[in-house]
Amino acid sequence: MQTDSEGFDYPQADADRCTDCKRCEKVCPYHHRRTKNTGKPDVFACFNKIAETRRQSSSGGVFTLLAEAALQNGGVVFGAAFNDRFEVVHRAVESVGELAALRGSKYVQSKLGDTFRQVKQHLDAGRFVLFTGTPCQIAGLRKCLTKPCDNLLLVDVVCHDAPSPRVFRLYKEEMERQYQSPVQSFSFRDKTGGWMRFRVNIEFRQKTTYSVEFGQDEFMRGFLSNVSLRPSCYSCFCNNFRSGSDITLADYWGITQVHPEFSDDRGTSLVLVHTLKGNEFWQRIQPHMVWLPSDLAKAVKHNPCIVCSVGVHPKRKEFFDRLGTAAVRELITDILKPDHSLTGRIKRFVRRLIVNRFSKYVYRKLTAYR
Ligand SMILES: Cc1cc2nc3c(=O)[nH]c(=O)nc-3n(C[C@H](O)[C@H](O)[C@H](O)COP(=O)(O)OP(=O)(O)OC[C@H]3O[C@@H](n4cnc5c(N)ncnc54)[C@H](O)[C@@H]3O)c2cc1C
Repeated sequence: MQTDSEGFDYPQADADRCTDCKRCEKVCPYHHRRTKNTGKPDVFACFNKIAETRRQSSSGGVFTLLAEAALQNGGVVFGAAFNDRFEVVHRAVESVGELAALRGSKYVQSKLGDTFRQVKQHLDAGRFVLFTGTPCQIAGLRKCLTKPCDNLLLVDVVCHDAPSPRVFRLYKEEMERQYQSPVQSFSFRDKTGGWMRFRVNIEFRQKTTYSVEFGQDEFMRGFLSNVSLRPSCYSCFCNNFRSGSDITLADYWGITQVHPEFSDDRGTSLVLVHTLKGNEFWQRIQPHMVWLPSDLAKAVKHNPCIVCSVGVHPKRKEFFDRLGTAAVRELITDILKPDHSLTGRIKRFVRRLIVNRFSKYVYRKLTAYR
């Protein structure tokens, strides 16, 4: 994999060693996009009965229950964790004690390394594997394995899209310089102020802490404004249930409107079950959850990333052109500064019109599920 100037990895064939068998092209999900989705899933709102696990998880803590069920089978669980340099990488976990590393969303594209090869080795050895990741990672693994496997459970997270690892590295280094200490722990989804107003929480080795609501943090602002994302994310070909996963996990944003009786601001998951295997696992974890059946159209209304990609920020190119020339937090603040000139106001007006059209597009997708 070669990292480009924006910080994203792309595969590159070694021309000296390539035998031109074209296997890499055959398994590339980008070249073989699924146009069909898995159809209408079963939809649930739920949360883990164990309050502490729920507190440590981004949403309702369903990932931990699925992982525990897989480990009880003598299985292996793959997911995204920080390594000791605070890069986000996929890794395997074989005991409940290690699950904490995978818990919690890390809003950076994770490096898969050789995990697909490891998955295949475990499957060939007859072990049960739970693989979790973004929809494109699930689609990629499915393609690499070439045939369906009974002993594999695929779980994707609904994905707003993946920010650049380079942007995250620069941001982290800046924070370390400012606080004059290496980072000790990092949470993108700290629930101290509630689930809906989650906080970015960084603990430094010298016992200082940075903790702000997500809207005040520059890295999160860049992510949620779609400035720092991978180019392919703006036209994702794996959302809208096209990854081929057995189960999809998400935040149940809109729970207050859809199921007010469930809204305690401690984190509620939206679970979409696509396959029989997914349903089998769902039945197994049900006794450990508080849950109720829900409605897909209502859930999607508050969480459009389930079915649609986000739009490109108009200053995305400028952001990446200037990346590295100024402090990244200042750069994000500058890029996201509202332009009050007449042209700026006209541009915003036109953008609003386009967004309205986009909402109608989302609505058309929603009504397809009724
Ligand atoms: C980049 C990203 C964008 C997301 N966007 C949305 C969204 O727009 N709407 C929404 O409803 N939900 C979104 N989610 C999913 C949501 O934040 C929770 O991850 C999900 O609901 C599971 O929560 P949980 O409480 O069950 O378990 P948790 O313990 O919080 O879940 C952790 C799970 O997420 C996986 N994970 C964490 N970071 C990454 C990563 N960088 N790459 C791949 N997998 C990762 C772990 O492997 C593990 O399976 C996003 C997650 C990520 C990682």
